[in-house]
Amino acid sequence: MVATMPSAAPLMECETPLFVMAQRQLDEIAKEMGLPTQLHERLRYPKRSLTVTVPVRMDDGLVQTFTGYRVHHDVALGPAKGGIRFHPEVNLGEVAALAMLMTWKCALMGLPYGGAKGGIRCKPWKMSLGEQERLTRRYTSEIINLLGPDKDIPAPDMYTNEQTMAWIMDTYSINVGHTVPSVVTGKPVAIGGSLGRHEATGRGVAYCVRRAVSHAGLKSEAPSVAVQGFGNVGSIAAKQLHAHGYKVVAVSDVHGGIYNPQGLDIPRLLAYLSEMGRVTGFPQATAINNQELLATECDILVPAALGNQIREDNVDSLKCKIVVEGANGPTSPEADIYLHEKGVLVVPDILANAGGVTVSYFEWVQGLTQLFWSEEEVNDRLEQIMGRACDRVFTLSKESNLRTRMAALRLGVSTIAEAKRLRGLYP
Ligand code: NAD
Repeated sequence: MVATMPSAAPLMECETPLFVMAQRQLDEIAKEMGLPTQLHERLRYPKRSLTVTVPVRMDDGLVQTFTGYRVHHDVALGPAKGGIRFHPEVNLGEVAALAMLMTWKCALMGLPYGGAKGGIRCKPWKMSLGEQERLTRRYTSEIINLLGPDKDIPAPDMYTNEQTMAWIMDTYSINVGHTVPSVVTGKPVAIGGSLGRHEATGRGVAYCVRRAVSHAGLKSEAPSVAVQGFGNVGSIAAKQLHAHGYKVVAVSDVHGGIYNPQGLDIPRLLAYLSEMGRVTGFPQATAINNQELLATECDILVPAALGNQIREDNVDSLKCKIVVEGANGPTSPEADIYLHEKGVLVVPDILANAGGVTVSYFEWVQGLTQLFWSEEEVNDRLEQIMGRACDRVFTLSKESNLRTRMAALRLGVSTIAEAKRLRGLYP
């Protein structure tokens, strides 16, 4: 069947700019790979979306009402998997777009999951711990019919963490009458979490950097790296790369950046960060701002903070040879095309930051089998899976002259398409 643009797409409440961008990416690859029109149309929209009202008794005794979402984009390969974020900008379109990206990411990594995402529109930093706990528990109870270890397995995302997952696990378990650790991943090790989960995304980014360096044929003994964002992902990636002899020349956080062309002492910087709460002011480094960080002279740039950082208006200032996207959506579509044409190797987000969901999968498997792995075993398996996915993406990109982002997407989409073809349409 010939692929064409779907004709009468249903109008949906989720059609926000981020969702439309996710659809445009799918449309581009669907056209390139000749995806049958009817399947293309099914994949442009989420399978199911739930919007819930979450009333919470605040510390002052008054009840405040929040809006929450849980979206399943596709579940052809297995239970829906995806994070839950707490943020004032959460809306149905954002959640649906991120759920779609989770579908492609899980399929690309060969994980037996569909794509999901959830969130609550709130300002968690203005809420006490008790308020956050009541918010999490009531939200869990509102979406409980979607959840379950073989149905939908949440994980942490922006402004949610191991504690949030523990509350979700406890609320779900109490409602079903027995303890079900595998209903969430990213939970504390003491209640069934996996060793290595906390570091998994940053570690995965570092594996991708090393694979990309070898693929690009960089000969340097100590390739230089600049990292934007020094939180969970950025700081762990920097630590790993430093330990492997890379020269981390610049890092930044929300307060600003620091630069030393001889390489920063990352273990000392981590100690400084835990004392001062910021990277700025670190001795033996020059202060730079976040725009200067992106334009740093370096071999590899790792954006690991926010979305939409590398855009049409600043992409020509980049001086790196490789971009490894720790953050979700740090590069605009126009900038992505520019980088490809300039010969910069981009490791796209659905590949580069997939270490977290991969070790989430390990956590789920360990919970279901009640057999727990050593940290070394977790890290070795993660390296194998990340390495294989990198090789598949780089090879397809080279053979088909596709942007690496499109190659990654094509591998993910074709896996889903094949699963759907084999399963057929009910009834
Ligand atoms: P985090 O909150 O631990 O760290 C974010 C870092 O970015 C902090 O150092 C913060 O100061 C910095 N930052 C914020 N605004 C900035 C700005 N304007 N300029 C420069 N730095 C800024 O978050 P994280 O978990 O490390 O996540 C970082 C990115 O990676 C996000 O885009 C997230 O969606 C993505 N991601 C994270 C994971 C994970 O497992 N943590 C998995 C997949 C994707």
